[in-house]
Parts: sequence; C-alpha cells; structure tokens
Amino acid sequence: TPYTSVTEGKAEVLFPSTHDVFYNPVQEFNRDLSVAVLRQLASEHEGGIRILEALAASGLRSIRYAKEVNGALEIVANDISKQAIECMKRNITHNNVQNVIKSSQKDASMLMYENKVPNKRFQAVDLDPYGSPHVFLDGAVQCVADGGLLLVTCTDMAVLCGNSPETCYTKYGALSIKSKACHEIALRIVLQCIESHANRYGRYIVPMLSLSADFYVRVVVRVFTSQAKCKETFSKLSWLYQCVGCETATLQPLGRIVVNGRSIKYQLCSGPSVPQACQHCGHRHLMAGPIWSAPIHDGEFLKGLKNSLVEEDFTTYRRMYGILTMMEEELPDVPLFYVMDKLTAVAGINLCKMVQFRSALLNAGYEVSMSHTSKNSIKTNAPPQFIWDIVRV
Ligand code: SAM
Repeated sequence: TPYTSVTEGKAEVLFPSTHDVFYNPVQEFNRDLSVAVLRQLASEHEGGIRILEALAASGLRSIRYAKEVNGALEIVANDISKQAIECMKRNITHNNVQNVIKSSQKDASMLMYENKVPNKRFQAVDLDPYGSPHVFLDGAVQCVADGGLLLVTCTDMAVLCGNSPETCYTKYGALSIKSKACHEIALRIVLQCIESHANRYGRYIVPMLSLSADFYVRVVVRVFTSQAKCKETFSKLSWLYQCVGCETATLQPLGRIVVNGRSIKYQLCSGPSVPQACQHCGHRHLMAGPIWSAPIHDGEFLKGLKNSLVEEDFTTYRRMYGILTMMEEELPDVPLFYVMDKLTAVAGINLCKMVQFRSALLNAGYEVSMSHTSKNSIKTNAPPQFIWDIVRV
C-alpha cells in the first residue's frame, strides 16, 4: 500500500492511502493544547506519568505525547479497529517510540474496566471519539488516578447545542437548548455528565480547562475520590431557564449547602423562583439542563499552562496563547453571557457599541469579561434588570 506521510509536532505519521484510518488536520490545535496540558501534569510527578489514549486511531496523538511530553513513562494507545492497529504499529516503529508506547486492540470500555483498580489507574486518560464520548465515560472516570486528568473531546455539537434536546438527554442526561451561548452551555452539559458518572463511584471532578473551538468541545478535568464531596454536587448544578423572547438566562441551582459551625445542611431548592413570564419582555421560559454552574476552568492551572508554553514547540502557539488568555479573563463565577446584537435587536434599537456597553457596566461597579466561546459575548455579574436599563436608555 502506498502511504501519505504527515508531520505534526515531533511526530511523523504514515497513513494508508486507502483513507481507512482516521486523521483530522484541523485537530492539531486540540493535540497541541493536550501536549501542553500533559507536560503540565508531568511536571507535578517526579516519577513520570502513565497515559491511556483509549481511542487512538493512527497513534499520532500518543506518538506526540511520547516524543513531546518529558516524563511520559508509559502510554497505552488503544483502538478497536484492525486497520487502525496496523497503522499505529507501523507508526510506533517509524517514530522509534516502542519503549514508551504499548499498542492495544480492545474495546475501550473493557480496557478501562480492566484498569480501574487503584494500582493500575492512569495519571491521564484521553478520550477522542467520533461524536459523543458518553458510552466511554463510565469506564473512564474509574481508571483515572486520584488527582489525575481526564481529557474528553465531543464533536456532536448539533446535539449539545440544542438541535435535538431529547437526544442530548439520552446521551448526556441533560436537555440542550438553542442559544447564543450554546457553546458554553455545551461545555457545562458535558461537565455535568462527567461529574454524574464520577459520582456513581464516590468520585468527583474539578475542571481545569474547558475549550470550545472549531467544531468541537474539549474538557480537561481532575478526578478525585470523596463521598463527602460527592454530596456537594447538587450545589454545583443548575436548571437553566431561558426566555424565548430576549434569551435572558436564569439559573436555578438544584440546591445549596449551608454550613453552620459543625453542622452541614443540604438544602434542596424550594418552589419556583423563576416567574412564568420573563420580567424583561413578557415572554415565557424554556427549561434546559441541568448544567454545571460552578467554574469551568482553574485559574492556577491556566496560569501555569500559559507560562509553560514554548513558541517553537507548537504551530498553533499564538492561538493557544490567545485562548488561554481569554479563559483566564473569563469571570469564573458568572455562567453564560449576553450577546450584544441580541440585546440591541430585542430592545429594537441600534445603539451601544460593545465598548460603551462595557464601560457603562464597569462605571456602575460591575465586573465584565468575554467568553472565549463567542466573539460578541459579555459576561457580567450585573443583574439582568440593570442590563436592560442601559440597553433601553
Ligand atoms: N485520537 C485520534 C487522533 O487524535 O488522531 C483520533 C481518534 S478517532 C476520532 C476515533 C477512533 O475510535 C477510531 O479510530 C475508531 O476505530 C475508534 N473506536 C471506536 N469505537 C471504539 C471502541 N469501542 N473501542 C476502541 N476504539 C474505538
């Protein structure tokens, strides 16, 4: 068979010209960022790290991890397909990384269940499926070591962005909704879903980085074990009520935790706190979720990651740097956002440039940022009433 050769990072990978093994050049950014993330993780582990790439196709990603992540001790590159494994083995030899990468041809879930006991777990587990990762999450949350990283890509954006809320519910356990903020909602649905799988095994997640780019979302979360922490999950999740008229989003947490000295009370949300009709435009609400309403990035992790970037190592360095900077600036405690053109369209006026709008909020003492998921986004802790008052002036 003739081969096409592709060079990315320090890997040179051969693909059969028959195109029966998956390769997507657009995902270079995703792979660059993942290399940087794993370098960051490896720097925390003096003894090195073990990585599982459960859906590895040609092995490109694993080969990059082997050659570019100092401290990657062992990598298991798994795929169920015979063609993928043949291609992967050829590439492992071609790149001379046989000492680091072990190829494996199994169903990813079976392999992850085999490695769920604490002494076999991996410091990093990477899931890069076709479409949705939902069938692999149950195994994945069990085979990540405590404090280790789970990295998950989802490419079924239509489902996550509200084209079929009912399908989203079957896969992710949450209703999606059409919205200008749908990419951030997608991230929060995925985080909610991973948390729910983790909680079944007394484990919980802490998001390090949540990315929306091109046609996919990618989340990086740490996994820990604690039954007590699992009981806090309901306070990190919210129902989302979105007005069909002005798209104003109202979040209703599933519950909250009240700590009083030594006593901890778990309070469920009581009664409908969202009125039937929207206060701002009189339309009704649609309900979606539950979504993750706690922070979606970890500030310290982002900072360390950004400082560790080496320009010569990454073709997509500038994009990585730019997106990490935007993520750092995102207000951590403000889920979702407004979009300028929607605000002005609903108010029926054509005023307010983004800059003026921002300064009005800042002058009133509120915080403002963008979301990396949308270029016209405005995140703010100002109450909706205040927003509508400025737009209408
Ligand atoms: N991670 C790769 C990269 O960065 O180039 C691409 C992975 S590709 C999107 C998804 C792969 O998952 C395919 O090669 C497919 O054969 C494999 N796959 C699908 N179902 C699987 C299963 N149940 N167990 C293991 N591999 C599976």
